[in-house]
Amino acid sequence: MGSTGLIVQEVTIPRNSGRAFELTKGQVIRVIGTTIADFVAFNRDDLTDRLDQARTKVYNRKIFISTGDVLMTKSNRHLLTIIKDTYEEGTHDLQHGMCSRSRFELAAREGRLAEYYFRDIAPEELPDHGCWENLTGALKPWNIPPYDIPSPFNLFQTVTIDSRTGLMLNSTTRPKPGTHVDLRAEMDCLVAISSCPDLWAGGEQGLQVRVYEEPEG
Ligand SMILES: [Zn+2]
Repeated sequence: MGSTGLIVQEVTIPRNSGRAFELTKGQVIRVIGTTIADFVAFNRDDLTDRLDQARTKVYNRKIFISTGDVLMTKSNRHLLTIIKDTYEEGTHDLQHGMCSRSRFELAAREGRLAEYYFRDIAPEELPDHGCWENLTGALKPWNIPPYDIPSPFNLFQTVTIDSRTGLMLNSTTRPKPGTHVDLRAEMDCLVAISSCPDLWAGGEQGLQVRVYEEPEG
């Protein structure tokens, strides 16, 4: 277990559903998965201050973040620090938004589903909701409207980016079982996570999430 303390919460997030977690400063949240996890977070004392993809990229001076890097809020405060990352086969994404019913419908209308799924998708195979709806539902008790949910930190979503043209391509790289990311809360925060209806990963894959007490010493 290394530097983590006692487990205070352990939850399974089934495929294409979401959950929220209230963390106190110093607690560590571990996300274990073989599929994409859309991760958002808010300052618990001011829910309007929340994860900001751009501030996070600029603060860390990179677009792929991992161990030692910090998730930042809109007001440039430290939200969570990645203290461990065992996803060695790929990188996490800080460019994309969330999948959603409207996103699936748009891609279907434009004949672009194969860009996301790497194969043809029958209309009946398309999920009727996605990560946006999952995060919206998970955050409902805190009265966070859907349009106020920030673009996420997409764990285990490996995207290749051409450094000259900026072309972004999804990939079929996924974590092997047991792969996890540990994030330490740098303030009291509210975290919500969606287990993506990632058709490439297939099956009934979901995510495991554990919250640990601040380690001693
Ligand atoms: Zn998704």
